[in-house]
Amino acid sequence: MLHEINLQTKKHDEMIDITARVEAFLENIQEGIVVVFSSHTTAGITINENADPDVQKDILRRLDEIYPWDMAEDRHIEGNSAAHLKASTVGASQTVIIHNGKLLLGRWQGIYFCEFDGPRSRTCYVRIHKQNQ
Ligand code: ZN
Repeated sequence: MLHEINLQTKKHDEMIDITARVEAFLENIQEGIVVVFSSHTTAGITINENADPDVQKDILRRLDEIYPWDMAEDRHIEGNSAAHLKASTVGASQTVIIHNGKLLLGRWQGIYFCEFDGPRSRTCYVRIHKQNQ
């Protein structure tokens, strides 16, 4: 089953917790695998802490430190090479195990859509593979 999550991001750099939206697609699937994929070159998907929101702020700030927006040497005409680098750093997708009808995430883990060149309308895809019993 293929599902879509449509998002309107609000900030230039932002991490949006999409765990509940992914979980909503599981319905009564007990065992399997879910793949969450971002079809964008300046956004990505990561799994990280969902307890302290300062973790997200620190991740975004440190990515900014590693990949400053203004680099005179950058050749890319759009001027958003930093966003492309951040997207490749976090990756375009994540895979999560479905076990006993739930996402097999750690207690403090959430799935995040990572915007690096917003605000924009974004889409990510959720593909669920049900394990045959
Ligand atoms: Zn670009």
